[in-house]
Amino acid sequence: MMRFEHVSLPQRVRFGTGEAAENLAAEIEALGASRVMVIVSDGERELGHAVAGGLPVARWHHEVVMHVPLEVAERARQAAMAEHVDALVSIGGGSTTGLAKAVALTTGLPIVAVPTTYAGSEATDVWGLTEGARKTTGTDDRVLPRAVVYDAALTIGLPVQLSVASGLNALAHCVDSMWAPRADPIDRALAAEGIRALRVGLPLIVKEPTGTEGREHALYGAYLSARAFASAGSGLHHKICHVLGGMFNLPHAQTHAVVLPHVLAFNAPCADDARRRIAVAFDAPQAVEGLRRLYDRLDAPRALRDLGMPEDGIDAAAAAVLDVVPSGNPRPVTLAAITELLQAAWEGTDPR
Ligand code: NAD
Repeated sequence: MMRFEHVSLPQRVRFGTGEAAENLAAEIEALGASRVMVIVSDGERELGHAVAGGLPVARWHHEVVMHVPLEVAERARQAAMAEHVDALVSIGGGSTTGLAKAVALTTGLPIVAVPTTYAGSEATDVWGLTEGARKTTGTDDRVLPRAVVYDAALTIGLPVQLSVASGLNALAHCVDSMWAPRADPIDRALAAEGIRALRVGLPLIVKEPTGTEGREHALYGAYLSARAFASAGSGLHHKICHVLGGMFNLPHAQTHAVVLPHVLAFNAPCADDARRRIAVAFDAPQAVEGLRRLYDRLDAPRALRDLGMPEDGIDAAAAAVLDVVPSGNPRPVTLAAITELLQAAWEGTDPR
């Protein structure tokens, strides 16, 4: 028997390479906005001006910090209020989208998101804020961007290694959506197509970093991955990465990239349907083998030790993960199993 409940988040997507400025202007006009705050980090300043230069901009805001520290969010909120802003535009990766979400959370201002990485935050209603070493996340209708403008040309400047890590972050949304607590057949269908698109796109980016074909597939896959993740919720993989990111301040996308093969290898033997779907999406005989082949082609990051995690942090991290294991994970999780998984991910050995 098939029985489920699924909520689709209301959001327009405009996808077109080389069309970001035009599509963004159309969205701002549709909102009737006349005092826009454009959030774009210092590094993407030039790109931001090229895309949003024609808008009625009341404020350019460049203070963007990973994981959205509360004081950074407060300054952006105050700037939005002081300038009587009526819409927010975010141009950048997940950190930039995250700051726009933090402003929308307290002001209710509408966001138009222009992503330049494959993190996928633009397609979720999830916000995150950091206070000291503590990261808080939540969901709220107000933070879901009203529209997303995708333009593969904007991601060409993303270095290949970061593109790979970011794309594998999207792939992790897909894989985890197969068994996350609220996963339903629609999420699984979106996730499978997301895996297929990323499997095609990421090797093309490595082969031809300045081409747009691979980057179009990757952006499309990133969107699908985020739709699936927003609906399905955090599975074991995301819980592990959340713990590691918080405890050791590790880089977001790379941490996801390293952990993913280990979680897939752990859960796959107990997740028949997911295992089959993932294998088909990889066009491989087995799910784990499909992911391994992709990692080899991408020269993907493999070890947490390379990202700065201390080996003596493994035990504490394993204990913290055990406290947040999602209900319904296909395979029972023990402290010994998580410790072994983290040890292998730390060393960068093949998943067991
Ligand atoms: P990021 O936004 O921090 O960007 C990483 C680096 O890439 C930055 O230095 C940035 O300046 C640079 N960059 C971005 N676009 C570029 C481009 N086109 N060319 C050259 N450089 C570019 O990293 P991220 O991985 O995109 O996002 C990570 C953050 O997003 C984390 O805080 C994570 O928690 C959050 N996130 C949230 C959700 C959600 O649903 N709320 C989903 C995914 C990620």
